[in-house]
Formats: sequence, C-alpha cells, structure tokens
Amino acid sequence: MTEKIRFVKHIQKSVIHNPMMDNEIDTQELEIRKDPLTGAQSVFNPRLEDKVAMFYGKSDPVLIEKMAKESESKCFLCGDTWKEVTPSYPADIVPKGRIQIGEAVLFPNIFPVAQVHAVIRVGKKHYVPLSDFDPKAVADAFMTTFELTELLLKAEAGFNYMTINGNYLGPGGASIAHPHFQMVGGDLPFTYLEKILDYSWRYLKENKTCYWTDLLEQEKIIGKRYIGATGSADWITSFSPSGTNEIIGVLPERYRFSEMDTSDINALASGLVNVLSGYAGMGISTFNFALYSGPLKERDSAFRCFIRIISRQNVYENYRTDDYFLQKLLDNELILTPPEILAEKMQQHFKL
Ligand SMILES: [Zn+2]
Repeated sequence: MTEKIRFVKHIQKSVIHNPMMDNEIDTQELEIRKDPLTGAQSVFNPRLEDKVAMFYGKSDPVLIEKMAKESESKCFLCGDTWKEVTPSYPADIVPKGRIQIGEAVLFPNIFPVAQVHAVIRVGKKHYVPLSDFDPKAVADAFMTTFELTELLLKAEAGFNYMTINGNYLGPGGASIAHPHFQMVGGDLPFTYLEKILDYSWRYLKENKTCYWTDLLEQEKIIGKRYIGATGSADWITSFSPSGTNEIIGVLPERYRFSEMDTSDINALASGLVNVLSGYAGMGISTFNFALYSGPLKERDSAFRCFIRIISRQNVYENYRTDDYFLQKLLDNELILTPPEILAEKMQQHFKL
C-alpha cells in the first residue's frame, strides 16, 4: 500500500545579498510541506535549524519557581479551596455537583466558552515541571472527563462533540500555574474538529479506507516519524506540523470517547507524560494539547480519536510570543526542529 497518502514537499529558492557573506549572492532553499489530509503548510529553512534559541529563549526555572510560589497562596486548585469557591453542576446532570477521582477534580468553568466547559485539576501539586508529570494524576484527570461525558449523554443534554484540552503556564495561555485540563463541547463541532471530520470523510469516500489507520500504517513503514506505542495508542510526529514540535497520538481502534476504556486512558496518559518529558529534555517549559473525538451519538467510520500536543514559547521575563502573522493570519507554521529529528529525540522517552 498505499499511495493514497502523499507527503508533498515543495522547494522554493529565496535570493538575497547577504551582509554576513560579504554581501555576496546567497540563495536559501526553503522546504514547504503540506499536511497529507488538510493541505496545511509549514516551512523549513535549514539555515534556521541551529537558531532555535533565537525564536525560543531559554526557560528561566528560577522565575518559574518564583511565580509559582507567589501564586500558590491564592490558588483555588490547591488544598480544599476548590470545595468552597468553584461552581458545580445541577444534580440532575452530575449527582454530586463535581466529579472527583484520586486527586483529580472536575467542575464547571464559571465563565464558559462552550455549552459544556469543565475545568479539571490534575494532581494536588501547585507547580509541576514538565519532567515530573505523573501518569496516574493525568489518567485520573482524563477519567473525570469520561465520567462527565457518560453523565451528559445519559442526561440527553444536547451534546454531541467534545474535546479535552490543556494549556500550561503563561505563554501556553494558562491563567494559573496549577496543572489543569479543560473539557469543552456542545451540539456543534469546533472549527478545527469540523474541518478534520470533513476531510476525513472525503478521504474515506475517495479511498474506501480510514485516513487515520492508513496514516499509522504508512508512518510505521516509513519509520522516520514513528515514535512508538503506549498500549493502544500509536505516536508520530506530524509531517507538516501546525504547531511547534507537534506530536500526534492516535487510537486506531477508537471512533469516539464513549468507546474508550481504562486501558485507552492509561495509554493516552503515559504517552502524554512521555512527550512532556521529551519536551523537558529539549529545555521546553510549556505546552498545549487537544484530544479529539468523533461525534458521540453516531459512529463515524472516517474518524479515529487522536491527541495533538505542541510546545509553546518558553517562560522567561519579557518573552516574545511564538505565534505571529505566519501562524495567526496565514495559517502556516514554521518548522525549526524537523519532524524526523523530533521523532528521534522523542523515541528515547518512549522506551520502557
Ligand atoms: Zn495550586
């Protein structure tokens, strides 16, 4: 198989007089990559490969510790404060108002941005470096969202699409240091999810097979971007990433969240923790992720559950944001560490 998935690279040449080369003519070769499913572009200029520090300043662990300490006494996720100050669900949806599993606690966001918008505490520790995330704490946090999904489906709350997401530290968009996830969903799919469901459906129609299982099969054969497996999840780097250091974990047997079991959740949690440990090894201090599901009420055979994890700008004083016009307004991404090199770095963190 399978010529169905095409990994397209387009080469461009950019010509300048370069003052760093005595103003001689300098022709720089750019590699434009296209995502095999969506066509989303990313660009790699090999000259920038050793300039990661220019785009991503060094994380400042002393500053992070200081900010974490300062915010700890005001944190509503620390200790039992959440019992007093966080909202709760009506009893006809969530009988106890909130969902608690181990150290994880799920409650509604006081200012929702989606029909269902839950916040989930991940462990009781206020600040956790990326190298120290605990798979059990992450799995318990995921588990609360699956319990909420079941309750919402039972309550027939007009809820068909959901995602589980994470922001970590200020440059990642988090307003508090304490590790937390957010589940958002409703009767409409989010823009990206709608697009990806649509593209997956078109692929199925054209090829009579599922893009996501074809992708895994092909990446396993190619090998350069395949990282490894954690139980039922397979992990790869994106050929054409739409975020920095993008890693994708696919559950090839799962079409929607409601089909997942404890072993799937453990597979996702340990893969996520491995990726964070890989990021830590690269000096990264922040991340975002989103875990996507097909529609909850019907089985979409074109789709499989998957998670995307990206790193964000590092934490240091007066940091520069990592997203600029290229990402925000042109929908292109810049590659500094090629996906094939990133996969090699990550493989070390997926060994048992
Ligand atoms: Zn806290």
